Amino acid sequence: MARVINDGCVSCGACESSCPVGAITAGDDKYVIDAATCIDCGACEGSCPTGSIAEA
Ligand code: SF4
Repeated sequence: MARVINDGCVSCGACESSCPVGAITAGDDKYVIDAATCIDCGACEGSCPTGSIAEA
């Protein structure tokens, strides 16, 4: 399983540095989590100011 970033993302980038495995990168219109890299630790969830990161 992996966390996912939904359409509430405003591309602020606050989550990127919170991920211990570097699974979060900037996408075309929002940030994205690489499901193959994510270890579902949840560290990124609290870093999102719009609450746009949740369990898949
Ligand atoms: Fe990275 Fe953990 Fe968030 Fe997955 S749940 S994207 S491993 S911080």
